[in-house]
Amino acid sequence: MRTEAKDGKFELMALPFEPDALAPAISAETLSFHHGKHLQTYVNNLNAALPGSEFEGLTLEEIVVKAEGGVLNNAGQILNHNLYFSQFKPYCEQNEPVGELGAAINRDFGSFDAFKQQFQAGGATLFGSGWVWLAADADGKLHIVQEPNAGNPVRRGMKPILTFDVWEHAYYLDYQNRRPDHLAQLWNVLDWNVLNARYTSEA
Ligand code: MN
Repeated sequence: MRTEAKDGKFELMALPFEPDALAPAISAETLSFHHGKHLQTYVNNLNAALPGSEFEGLTLEEIVVKAEGGVLNNAGQILNHNLYFSQFKPYCEQNEPVGELGAAINRDFGSFDAFKQQFQAGGATLFGSGWVWLAADADGKLHIVQEPNAGNPVRRGMKPILTFDVWEHAYYLDYQNRRPDHLAQLWNVLDWNVLNARYTSEA
């Protein structure tokens, strides 16, 4: 994936679904703050830091690999949220992996149910703020990776496929302290065609 700045500025991604389409996994109110306020702030902060820096002209992905400190935090959060929001589709309880990714999940975790259990546990046990990822190594083998704060598996040389945001801002309005209940609902809004396309893409 290559996310380019336009005229030196990164833009707030557009949501590929209606604001109320993900409820009850994610409410329209949570989306309005999470996308419209939190992500917008990361975009504004990174754009303010770019002029005159060594990161001007780089793609978002290149910045995440190279940066440290505040630039990494803001660029990482933009990349993470772009991957997070673009992996969803309207709520549906009949929803299972497809294609090569579905086969790889069965191969590397035994079954979709076994994978779901491990992935949810990865999100539930991550202390504080961060992200749990399904990522592929250079051989296409799948791994569950916990990342604190704005971490992204691209910095480990892995391809990010699927992610659950476990920062409290992702669920607190809807689920308060019940992070596991929120994570269990996210399986009903995943667009497995999008996730499979990430797994099978060249870059
Ligand atoms: Mn977030």
